[in-house]
Amino acid sequence: MEKLLVDLGDRSYPISIGSNLLSDTSLLSSAIKGKKVMIVTNDVVAPLYLEACKNTLKDYQIDDVILPDGEQHKNLSTFEIILSELLAKKHARDTTIIALGGGVIGDMAGFAAACYQRGIAFVQIPTTLLSQVDSSVGGKTAVNHPLGKNMIGAFYQPQAVVIDIECLKTLPAREFAAGMAEVIKYGIIYDQDFFKWLEQNIEAIKSLDPTSIIYMLKRCCAIKAEVVALDEKEHGIRALLNLGHTFGHAIEAEQGYGNWLHGEAVAAGMVLAAETSFVLGLIEHDDVDRIIDLIEAFDLPLAAPENMQYAHFAEHMQLDKKVLDGKLRLVLPTSIGTSALFDNVSEIVLRDVIES
Ligand code: NAD
Ligand code: MG
Repeated sequence: MEKLLVDLGDRSYPISIGSNLLSDTSLLSSAIKGKKVMIVTNDVVAPLYLEACKNTLKDYQIDDVILPDGEQHKNLSTFEIILSELLAKKHARDTTIIALGGGVIGDMAGFAAACYQRGIAFVQIPTTLLSQVDSSVGGKTAVNHPLGKNMIGAFYQPQAVVIDIECLKTLPAREFAAGMAEVIKYGIIYDQDFFKWLEQNIEAIKSLDPTSIIYMLKRCCAIKAEVVALDEKEHGIRALLNLGHTFGHAIEAEQGYGNWLHGEAVAAGMVLAAETSFVLGLIEHDDVDRIIDLIEAFDLPLAAPENMQYAHFAEHMQLDKKVLDGKLRLVLPTSIGTSALFDNVSEIVLRDVIES
């Protein structure tokens, strides 16, 4: 088992990464405050992992709430189901919420933990690759509103993150690939050596070789933890984690959420960002090629859908959080392993990149 710490002063917490951690009673117990637990999960994950999780925590008073699966249920009504269940089962401030599932469950359960009785403890047990490398670390919690994704939420850090790599064995290939987009992102924005390691370990990663997967998850969590520790509330460097996301959100929104997975949209968005960088003379062509090749190697899309023109992007990109003071801010790679925020990318350049 590998362990690392998200260093946030008195809100610091450990991330544990390994095989069969879901059945590690002492590890899970060490993360739980009090004797009562509410497991929040969904109807896809529950049949796979809920019993195992409950067995591991036999000594606790455990309730669970099984939500309908899917991003379309990440909303205030589903959020209310969690709160109602906590109230109906008479949970108080000494209860710990366990989020057992992907990013949708983690974000909703975390937000419920932030709000229930003004804040109770919670533990993340992320079961998708995306949630293991990204959403479970960093304390952003939220639900969607019909007028915008993740528009209602809180910064609220968990007590612990427990990553069991066995969960990846049941994950659909398309979801695994989507998670790889965020993995590749860390290499591009922050870590040249990690990017090179990914290039050299494509087959091991795809076949879920445990040593490779644990190394990969640890590196991603370490980068995210480092960035979050430097800038918890996204006033600066944390924004670099949005590489590919401004373009990506436009693709997701235009195609209708759920048709393109987030990671797929981010993959195409990273290619657009790299090409924008190249047009601006910020990055070598070789580096753009390596980015494209690695994204392709993990079976991710390299371009936006053909029906998406500049106007579609422009419409959605203005609504994005990355717009500050009316200027479009884009994260662009400046080499493999470095990136920066630019707020002066002209319409002409964007149009050129999107329509070529
Ligand atoms: P998800 O939670 O919808 O999971 C994807 C699918 O896989 C779902 O159908 C889920 O039920 C299923 N699943 C989960 N674990 C499984 C397993 N082990 N085996 C088989 N199936 C499994 O999607 P996601 O990609 O994990 O997360 C996306 C969400 O995360 C979005 O709502 C996004 O906004 C959010 N997110 C949050 C942050 C953050 O910092 N909080 C960061 C990135 C993304
Ligand atoms: Mg993302």
